[in-house]
Amino acid sequence: MFINFQEELNRELPVHKLDEEGKEKLKNPKDPIQFMWIGHATFLVQFDGLTVLADPVFLYRCSPVQIVGPYRYRPTPCEIKDLPKIDAVIVSHNHYDHLEHDAVQKLNNRFKDIKWYVPEGTGSWFQKYDCNNVKEMTWWKEDVVKIGGKEVKFCCVPAQHWSQRTPTDAMKSLWCGWVIKSKHTFYYSGDTGYCPVFKTIGEKYGPIDLSAIPIGCYAPRYFMKPQHINPEEAVKVHTEVGSKYSIAIHWGTFNGLGSHEHYLEPKKYLDEAVREAKVDNMNFGEFLTVEHGKITAIPIKSKKTLQRMVKIKVTILETPVYSIYHWNKRKHHKTPDNFITQDKELAEQVVQLNNKIKEINSTLNSHTPKFSNDLQVRSKYKNGAHRTETNRSYYNFQLYADGIHPTNLLARTWLKKIATQAQIDCW
Ligand SMILES: [Zn+2]
Repeated sequence: MFINFQEELNRELPVHKLDEEGKEKLKNPKDPIQFMWIGHATFLVQFDGLTVLADPVFLYRCSPVQIVGPYRYRPTPCEIKDLPKIDAVIVSHNHYDHLEHDAVQKLNNRFKDIKWYVPEGTGSWFQKYDCNNVKEMTWWKEDVVKIGGKEVKFCCVPAQHWSQRTPTDAMKSLWCGWVIKSKHTFYYSGDTGYCPVFKTIGEKYGPIDLSAIPIGCYAPRYFMKPQHINPEEAVKVHTEVGSKYSIAIHWGTFNGLGSHEHYLEPKKYLDEAVREAKVDNMNFGEFLTVEHGKITAIPIKSKKTLQRMVKIKVTILETPVYSIYHWNKRKHHKTPDNFITQDKELAEQVVQLNNKIKEINSTLNSHTPKFSNDLQVRSKYKNGAHRTETNRSYYNFQLYADGIHPTNLLARTWLKKIATQAQIDCW
């Protein structure tokens, strides 16, 4: 039983107890977007002056009674009394690991004007606890409110799951995910199996700055697959909604939820799935696990950098790498040193990329063809593939490997990796 391995748990899944410094951080957020994983599906997010709590559950057991049922092997980092002022609570469905009467009551007592965003059919349950401002919503419904003088849109989005709270109310209320749109966009998927809806969510509400996506509770697959995604599917959700930054939830907290996977497997499995996805998709962004109670800010690119990023393309050459290398030489395409020095940001990225290539070269043995650590950069480049571009001032990086034929899949994989590792936005 996990509970006997306190030392291992403290090492593998440390819980950062919310101290005075942390409370102050939550009270006066300095970063545009910050969050704290409270445990399992309970997630606190702060952005654009807004504080939202998702699926608040704080008791030891997520069960109708506190004597039996799934219990925590990792404690909560804080209690409701420690939280900053909560503007809104979003609830994904009424399962006990997502909705708890005690938390709802305590939140309602502390913050009378919380806005409760809940799935259709659960509104009357909240009214039982005297909650005001309960917005019961169905899939694809939106609600625009003013919070702190700013407009915020709460959007109820589909998920593939189910609901039940008592022996007789199975499927009688809805389950859902939530998109919250202010200046930035946050997506909370709720519990879900994998289905085609995520692409639609991405098209409708993307780009998404931060997502909270479940990765645990997936084994055995024959039983869990329709209701809970596994890390590999979570990675697909992240990609399909177009999330820049995703945080893994729904793992590492409760024992006895009915799934069989080892408690650390979701994390390892996610790391692997992310590593693989990054090779294929250079726009992957980040999908991370975080520690309980750790207040984390997500790195936001400044507007200037963002514009610059949009203009930079890394092309993995589709035509023979070898011949293009020579073609470039023949056409005496000058490495535009003067151009690079004019643009410091770009120059930095080129240096970064070249260093990466050097680093990779040093790890290859003498029988493996090496990559040239000379990066070709061309400005105002237009080719057939980009003819529709109206903006002529983007830059086209071409990575090439000296003497390697493009059918060499290993070489292509490495090239993609280089671009990914250099963290250059590319497509
Ligand atoms: Zn759940």
